[in-house]
Amino acid sequence: MSHPPKGFAVCVYCGARGGNDPLYMGQATALGATLATEGWQLVYGAGDVGLMGAVARAAQAEGGDTLGVIPVHLLKMEVGKTDLTRFVVTETMHERKKVMYMNSDAIVVLPGGAGSLDEFFEVLTWRQLGLHAKPIFLLNVNGYWSPLMALIEHVIAQGFADPSLAGFITVVDDVDALTLALRAARSNETDAAE
Ligand code: AMP
Repeated sequence: MSHPPKGFAVCVYCGARGGNDPLYMGQATALGATLATEGWQLVYGAGDVGLMGAVARAAQAEGGDTLGVIPVHLLKMEVGKTDLTRFVVTETMHERKKVMYMNSDAIVVLPGGAGSLDEFFEVLTWRQLGLHAKPIFLLNVNGYWSPLMALIEHVIAQGFADPSLAGFITVVDDVDALTLALRAARSNETDAAE
């Protein structure tokens, strides 16, 4: 029996702010457009602010499929983007993260603040524990995440994590490199399903 091809959903964690360098917004916009043109669904935090808004608007402009998940108490502060393909309102932050994670095949982390770090470390920890096998990509715009990778190497060097921890993270410098890496992840997933 043949099945219709399963879609590919990419969870994007990123700043609710735009950062100081226009390159951050530029790469967020490029990522949103690429997700749409590749036919991949954007899963994100449903805000219309900062890099979050830039990714979503660019995906929409190219006719992309978008799933946004936002907790009720952030609807105003993060300007809930109600015109997404699917717009889900949760009661708590934990539910938001869970719905985003469960509906995604791959995780991409753009520059961001404490919220993005929280989201990154959650999926990394779960990967370390073997709770999932979703690929995790850091979009290292302008070397933004290099200090984070240095911290992770330090954690490993000091004996607080297995060296495999770093192997769960793929660092890419720009959206072009990310697209190639996501295509490879997508085809691995398709092969595994066959
Ligand atoms: P930031 O990187 O700090 O700009 O935050 C990016 C996004 O992560 C924002 O939408 C925050 O509301 C969200 N966020 C922050 N902390 C959490 C959390 N514990 N669970 C879910 N989302 C969060």
